[in-house]
Amino acid sequence: MEATYPLARVFTDKTNNLNVFFDESPTANQFVQLRDIGKCVVEFCELDFSQCLEEIKKLNTETVSSNFEEIKNRFWYIVDLLKDKHPYVQFFLNSQMVLTFYGSDKSKEEQVDSIIHMFYYYVDLQNTYRIALEVCLSDEVLNEYTLPERLLLFGNNFPTFNRYMLRTRYGIAPMSYGEFDKSRVIRYSDPDEVDMKKVLADTHRDSQTPINMTNYFVIQTLEEMLYLEFMEMLKRGIRIKRCALCDKYFVLADKRKREYCDRVYKGNRTCKQIGAKLKFNKSVEGDQFLQEFQTIYNRMYSRYYRIDAWDSDRLTNKLSEEEFKQWSYLASQLRLAYKEGHITGKQMIEKLSKSTEYEKE
Ligand SMILES: [Zn+2]
Repeated sequence: MEATYPLARVFTDKTNNLNVFFDESPTANQFVQLRDIGKCVVEFCELDFSQCLEEIKKLNTETVSSNFEEIKNRFWYIVDLLKDKHPYVQFFLNSQMVLTFYGSDKSKEEQVDSIIHMFYYYVDLQNTYRIALEVCLSDEVLNEYTLPERLLLFGNNFPTFNRYMLRTRYGIAPMSYGEFDKSRVIRYSDPDEVDMKKVLADTHRDSQTPINMTNYFVIQTLEEMLYLEFMEMLKRGIRIKRCALCDKYFVLADKRKREYCDRVYKGNRTCKQIGAKLKFNKSVEGDQFLQEFQTIYNRMYSRYYRIDAWDSDRLTNKLSEEEFKQWSYLASQLRLAYKEGHITGKQMIEKLSKSTEYEKE
């Protein structure tokens, strides 16, 4: 199976970095080391697509054939709105547009439809990944179950995750003692400038294998990239936690105890900087109301994701998906209002308990 450009080559190693070559073409690429595996998945879930969707609604797609060029230019503009907002989202959406416009036999109408569909698809996928992160990797949710149980539970609700495939290739790479040595990545504008013999000799010298061969992933779509990063989180047991200040999820990069994320909270100060000076912290460990909140939340969660229905066709979800979505949205609004000091802990619990009443068994 041949992959067409643009594509990304992703090398994993024993560290929590993803080593990525974003290849625009066979001769033009950019090397980036994405630190803290999982961070880009969390950031994807928070990415605001609303401006893109508004621009799409404004498009005149009634007469595609007569203003095809104009629509195409608009699409490039819309994708560029996401530039610098995420480490790789814009690259892959761009790549999907190149494939659609230059690499397919689709009619103009179908090409336009498929790009519009792409945006809505990724907005949907944000929801799926929000659930994936929470069900599989948050310490605060479903904590009566083990991680493998939670993964099975998630796979049961989203079966496409279990069947997903990624493409891999083998290549020579500067791997040294299990780590990708980024100092040896060759950067050049003209291949003739590179002393290939010397580069290969250097690469070989630190190698623990005969010719330093390794496998890497060939990634062409945003969906594949998110899947790869998420699976690497699972493989490494990387967990997520809610920030005690802004209430958003962040990746726990190592074993150190952390309550706050690195996002900018107010002015140019981050949650971590502000949090360090706070006397009381609203983390689950240190706050009686949040603990109570979590107990109620987990009860609803378990009721929705019925673990006892693993291998049967019995319908045991007592809540519909829509009901559960609405309820968990309300719950997170309450938790945020409490963390921001707009309501008291007692009010939060009262309102939350009330919201679950219609669900009493
Ligand atoms: Zn925060």
